[in-house]
Amino acid sequence: AEIQYIRNFCIIAHIDHGKSTLADRLIQKGHLVEDRDFQDQILDNMDIERERGITIKSQAVTIPYTAADGHEYELNLVDTPGHVDFTYEVSRAINSCEGALLLVDATQGVQAQTLSNMYLALEHNLEIVPVINKIDMQAADINMARKQIDKDLGLDSSEALLVSARTGQGVDELFEAIVKRFPPPAGKVDAPLRALIFDCHYDPYRGVVVHVRLFDGTLKKGMKIRFMYNGTEYDVETVGVFKLALVETEELKAGDVGYFIAGVRTVSDVRVGDTVTGAENPCEKALPGFREIKPVVFSSIYPVDSNDYEELKTSIEKLKLNDASLVYEKDSSAALGFGFRCGFLGLLHLEVIQERLEREFDQSVIFTAPSVKYKVYVRNGPTAEEIMVDNPADYPGDGRVESADEPYIRASIITPTTFVGNIMTLCNEKRGVQTNMTYLDEKRVELVYNMPLAEVLFDFYDRLKSISRGYASFDYDITEYKKTDLVKLDILLNGKAVDALSQLVFRDNAQARARMVCERLQEEIPRQQFKIPIQGAIGSQVIARETVNALRKDVLAKCYGGDISRKRKLLEKQKEGKKRMKMVGDVELPQSAFLAVLKSK
Ligand code: GDP
Ligand code: MG
Repeated sequence: AEIQYIRNFCIIAHIDHGKSTLADRLIQKGHLVEDRDFQDQILDNMDIERERGITIKSQAVTIPYTAADGHEYELNLVDTPGHVDFTYEVSRAINSCEGALLLVDATQGVQAQTLSNMYLALEHNLEIVPVINKIDMQAADINMARKQIDKDLGLDSSEALLVSARTGQGVDELFEAIVKRFPPPAGKVDAPLRALIFDCHYDPYRGVVVHVRLFDGTLKKGMKIRFMYNGTEYDVETVGVFKLALVETEELKAGDVGYFIAGVRTVSDVRVGDTVTGAENPCEKALPGFREIKPVVFSSIYPVDSNDYEELKTSIEKLKLNDASLVYEKDSSAALGFGFRCGFLGLLHLEVIQERLEREFDQSVIFTAPSVKYKVYVRNGPTAEEIMVDNPADYPGDGRVESADEPYIRASIITPTTFVGNIMTLCNEKRGVQTNMTYLDEKRVELVYNMPLAEVLFDFYDRLKSISRGYASFDYDITEYKKTDLVKLDILLNGKAVDALSQLVFRDNAQARARMVCERLQEEIPRQQFKIPIQGAIGSQVIARETVNALRKDVLAKCYGGDISRKRKLLEKQKEGKKRMKMVGDVELPQSAFLAVLKSK
């Protein structure tokens, strides 16, 4: 399409407000897929997304649309995730669009990520169209939603569209609004190529597929392109657009969203946020790119089988292509051998990376206990030296630590008034200090807390959800570092400290944490030929203890005789289990033991 008939927009909202379902309706009306092949949340194509019912990756799709004015438009839609860990995905989507549909669930109203995503869109000068969704529901309160759009969002609610993404009601009007209210992209087709890499993925058959939004120029087969970050050049083999599948086209022009494949062999040449230009006629300045990613949670990844280190390395490289927010470097552990120290944007992000490594890349991995990044002041002669520590292994022992600071967040919690009491109790327990409390209306309160990030990592989100029956929403920003009282909690198996199980914890929490870890390990570690004491210790002081008893001789005896196929199954199962066992010193530790210590029950 010519540039005036292109619209690039994203759908943003709080989690579960109906973004992916609305994308479904738009895709269906665009006839991108036969009705019989349609499945709900069609853009959520990763297994984890479908199982958890959440969007993790932003996903682009091009929808043809003939408008009331008779013109054929090309609508490039990006569906985005809502969870706070994936805000980075949202901000990248926003960078490649001119407009945003801001969804508000008519039964829930404005929530924490409604606000934070709107601010992201405003920062980038996107045209915002408010959309009130789920109007088919009994509990829908359109007036409430309108009031909140006016008051909490500062948008004009008389311009809000009313839709049901479930039934399709209002979707025709929505299509027209997209065409009329979002501006076409501004760019010059005859200028030198300037394309923003907003995503990337690795295809086992085609190699690296680069997702781009063209701001200027054209991109076609045979062209020599240059990645501006490091100056490497490649020949373009194919270009195309996203129509659920990759569909090859002649060319991409200014304003378009699509992909190209250029036989990129060095995976690290492609960087999300980099600008692609023509090698013959390069543009002068790269596009602004994306904000630097600041991981907040750190953990190490090791292969269950040390021989798989190289394979794990290539898998992480490929996964990084599709998730630029993953940060990693080499790491090693006395207990687990070679691995990677990784930075994540939150605990859910960590879980997703773990699952993707296992499912998409078939890796058996162990993740160590997550940690935040501490500022530690270490005595160095008469002065104190400041070091950053995110790995318990790097925490100086021998009493040289003078003091430590930990990162704090500003947490915003929006909740129905009935849950305020219980939420305050939870926040206090998590060392939170309330800084503000605002009644948004008669039924909803916003609570603002200063809280240590480390407390949020551990078991906060689940408890908030359960005490508010899912109604409280939560968002946070990292604000500052503050004094803390830090200790290193070691876990000893059979008398030997296992470095991969150490954690840095707030002193007052150490006892409870140590007990919990010992109990969980006791449940997870299978009986072996000898008795295994499990101890939690700070320095030489043991603060918790459990024991795994030795295997009784007659357990094995029981397997003899009886059904042969059952016996074979048992052996199979044992073998399967063995593969996921890690020898740590003289103790066999199942992969699940490392996971168990991350979470309370
Ligand atoms: P997202 O997290 O914003 O992408 O939300 P989803 O599209 O995954 O939807 C969350 C849930 O709300 C799903 O169970 C949808 O079926 C449901 N849903 C979405 N839109 C509507 C709607 O208009 N009406 C009703 N009744 N349910 C909806
Ligand atoms: Mg979704």
